[in-house]
Amino acid sequence: MTIHRTTLPLVADLNTAPPAPAVARPLRVALVNMPWALSDRPSIQCGLLKAGLEAAGHTVDVHYLNLALAVGIGSDMYLQIAEMPAERTLMLGEWLFTVAAFGPVGGEDSYRAAFPAVDEACAKLGLTFEKLCELRGTWLPEWLDKVIGDIDWKQYDLVGFTSTFEQNVAALAGAARVKRLAPTVPTVFGGANLDGEMGLEFVRRFTDIDYVVTGEGDVALLHLAAALSGGGSGLGLPGLAARTPDGTVRARPPAQVREMDALPVPDFTDYFLQLDRLGRRAALGGRPVHLVVELSRGCWWGEKHHCTFCGLNALGMNYRSKSPRRAIDEIVAMASASRNLVIDTVDNILDMRYLGTFCDELAGHGYDLSMFFEVKANLSPEQLRRLRAAGVTRIQPGIESLSTRVLRIMDKGTDLLTNVRLLKWARYHRIAVGWNILTGFPGETDADYLNQAEIMPALHHLAPPLAFGELWMERFSPYFSKPPAQFHDIRPRQAYAFIYPLPDLDLAKIAYFFDHTSESQVSPEAVATLAAAVEVWRDRWPPDRPGPSLSYQRGPGWIRIMDSRGAHRSEQYLDGWQATVFQMCGDSPRTVAGLRRRMAEAQDVPHVPAVGELSEFLDSCVAWRGMIQEGGRYLSLALPTASRGQH
Ligand code: SF4
Repeated sequence: MTIHRTTLPLVADLNTAPPAPAVARPLRVALVNMPWALSDRPSIQCGLLKAGLEAAGHTVDVHYLNLALAVGIGSDMYLQIAEMPAERTLMLGEWLFTVAAFGPVGGEDSYRAAFPAVDEACAKLGLTFEKLCELRGTWLPEWLDKVIGDIDWKQYDLVGFTSTFEQNVAALAGAARVKRLAPTVPTVFGGANLDGEMGLEFVRRFTDIDYVVTGEGDVALLHLAAALSGGGSGLGLPGLAARTPDGTVRARPPAQVREMDALPVPDFTDYFLQLDRLGRRAALGGRPVHLVVELSRGCWWGEKHHCTFCGLNALGMNYRSKSPRRAIDEIVAMASASRNLVIDTVDNILDMRYLGTFCDELAGHGYDLSMFFEVKANLSPEQLRRLRAAGVTRIQPGIESLSTRVLRIMDKGTDLLTNVRLLKWARYHRIAVGWNILTGFPGETDADYLNQAEIMPALHHLAPPLAFGELWMERFSPYFSKPPAQFHDIRPRQAYAFIYPLPDLDLAKIAYFFDHTSESQVSPEAVATLAAAVEVWRDRWPPDRPGPSLSYQRGPGWIRIMDSRGAHRSEQYLDGWQATVFQMCGDSPRTVAGLRRRMAEAQDVPHVPAVGELSEFLDSCVAWRGMIQEGGRYLSLALPTASRGQH
């Protein structure tokens, strides 16, 4: 199959986009958040667009049909399906809406045969496969008829569907019903699933979609609403794709927001109103609401070194972020208005400026915030301390591997010791870390896998990886746009053919995830060894018990190291300069020469050991797994028991 690279022109600067024309008359706009958007949080896209459109004079209702479905099938089952990672081949959420979208397409048995994991999914959901098929074949189409039929769509001048992750098919099914009930009301689709040429193919093939936003929606939707309010159309507007009367697709490059502070504060009113109307317990079970905040777009690391597997930021890697002042005000205002303290940022990477006044001021407020950030793994212990003091309790650093060689292949900008240092000090500061181990990179060898497996027992006191698996290929990633010689036969993920059983849809154009064949040099045995080592580590951290520990107490002239990583608890003392050296290797990896220099400069170190003596001691620490070493740099693994420096 030929994979088409994007044909959409590159992004236009917002400053070069024409200003939105004046609004001739205010419109009534509906925005729809379909399943399988997470039900425990409002939609940042809908909240932002509502605020922007209302500031321009329009009236906007956001319909959270994902909440309605959570109540309909049960909050637990809903979230289990919504949280199944889309890249993990099945795309179950999308498949479940295929009959609602395209009619009785059948194909259940062939889907099951292609994806035996569907039986595992059924077991987790407490359903038989037959019941799952009933959900797909009759229950969901009837449910959608009802919830769409309950809304008067004719009152609107424009209906928008947002689509990220597994929302495409439900949105198509919803749009078809809206068009049946209100054929003259224009529909617009937008969201990450429609970026670039994916959006062009959707608007070409699906006549229930009138317009597609092919990039950031903030400017495009304002232009569209203004044009419609004056009796015009969206044809030829920046960031919009549409069919011309002769059936071809016309698209203009999307405009980007440059000044993040100029964005409105998202309006989540509809989410909370509908949550209260439907009942929080029915919609969410016991889960708390996660407020969603967007403080930046793009990625400052990716601007310089695009990680080879990363397909994020399709058309806008250039980094833009809100000022620390605006970020603080927005977080405090949201927490105040909604009485929620659990806040998730949707940013790809933390703005390092926030380690200053942003952290200090939030720490000074003393609120019990629980914030989530994606961060780069090279945060220092002090930076982690500041984040925790500000209320950051959860992070996702791009760790991806414990092999420096593989991390270099990824162009990840981190290494083994940096990754371990982050895991260590995050645990010390009580910050939960979500991370994965990825495999399948071109140029890997058995040694890369076996070395990782070998060091893992030394790390059992640190948060284990959430998942272990082969990299998946994403549209817009360097591996997709310029595949390495070892990757062949790049094709849309197999599940797309089951999700879109439509002969006239070009799957290569609408797919975001791709399968590929790889000429791997790694043996199955090496993969199995690493997989087994990850499983052992994960087993040491059952959900209901604290994991193993490796910590030390500091006394006058000595430290006591307590270790529960192995089968038996053990304890040992280090005295004098050995205790000093062990602690000096705690914050950052140190070399023999660097340690000797620091010891010579320190006032309270009476004896600087010779090179041989020091090397021998460091290597002995590596042997009993008190340290790890790479390239002559040593990092000690034990955490201080004292909470010096913690808030
Ligand atoms: S993986 Fe993360 S750090 Fe790397 S380019 Fe993508 S967003 Fe940036």
